[in-house]
Amino acid sequence: MNCEKRLNKFGKYAFGINLDDTYIYFGMFDKEGNCIKNFVRFIEKTHHGEDILPQIKKLIFEELEERNLKTKDIIGVGIGVPGPVNELGLVQNAPNLEWKYFNVNEKLSGLLDGIPVIAINDVKANALGEMWIGSGKGLKNYVDIKIGNKGVGSAVVNNGELLLGLNGANGEFGHIPINENENNKCSCGNKGCLEQYVSFDAFINLVKEKIKNKESSLKDQQLTLKNIFDAAEKGDEVAVECCEIYGKYLGKALAIMATINNPSHFIFNFPVQQNGEILMNIIKKYYKKYSHSASKDANIILGRLGDYAGMYGAARLII
Ligand SMILES: [Zn+2]
Repeated sequence: MNCEKRLNKFGKYAFGINLDDTYIYFGMFDKEGNCIKNFVRFIEKTHHGEDILPQIKKLIFEELEERNLKTKDIIGVGIGVPGPVNELGLVQNAPNLEWKYFNVNEKLSGLLDGIPVIAINDVKANALGEMWIGSGKGLKNYVDIKIGNKGVGSAVVNNGELLLGLNGANGEFGHIPINENENNKCSCGNKGCLEQYVSFDAFINLVKEKIKNKESSLKDQQLTLKNIFDAAEKGDEVAVECCEIYGKYLGKALAIMATINNPSHFIFNFPVQQNGEILMNIIKKYYKKYSHSASKDANIILGRLGDYAGMYGAARLII
């Protein structure tokens, strides 16, 4: 992406911000690319998503005030958004934020008294972060995979270049239609999209359904990813069965992606700290089973930057 001409070259600092469906990952960087502060906040989703950009404005202005800085000291703000964003910053339908169609660059820059803003899709921000200082460093062909509570997406790096597509919707992997018989609507408005089966909420709902009629140690516990993976490690039948069903969906979906992109690596921004190794192994098993022979050797690995990948990637748009 060629965005340099829009930035304030006299600035000394930059902000990298990534939004997923639940959190704001906020980072402040110096112009050498060092992260000097970062934190996470819940997204306040009132007034149909109208309050999200003002919330970001508040966080940025608080930092400026604390450090006695002016808007002219800022090179720019990079922001990752969970929905398709084109090169001009136009977002087209980010249902998990209740955003429809508007120019994020212009709107946020307006709120920030003219600080230049460059928006990108959140998973593409992840891919740029991993490319900069993470697991994607030095790789030419890889696909970054992001699983959220509600949304699922990917970003494709082909021959060293991040692919955007016409409306920035390249890699909208969560909306591969996989089930003709689904009655519930996906966030995109269609029915039977992959995301309806492989978001973390879908995984937890699957376990919820299964434990209704079967014995499981999970009946007495809060259904969190960590508890489910821990139970599966200990051999809980329902937990193992659900990991198998869920991992099969994902392994198969990666095999579909591989027939189109033929990557050397899939990089997962997956919460490994929650003991997700058991699930990764199932995903790898089904990937091997379903992938084309020329794609079978793709490595499925974890992103080094975890949940912060997109924050770094958004900053990379500026620095
Ligand atoms: Zn969909």
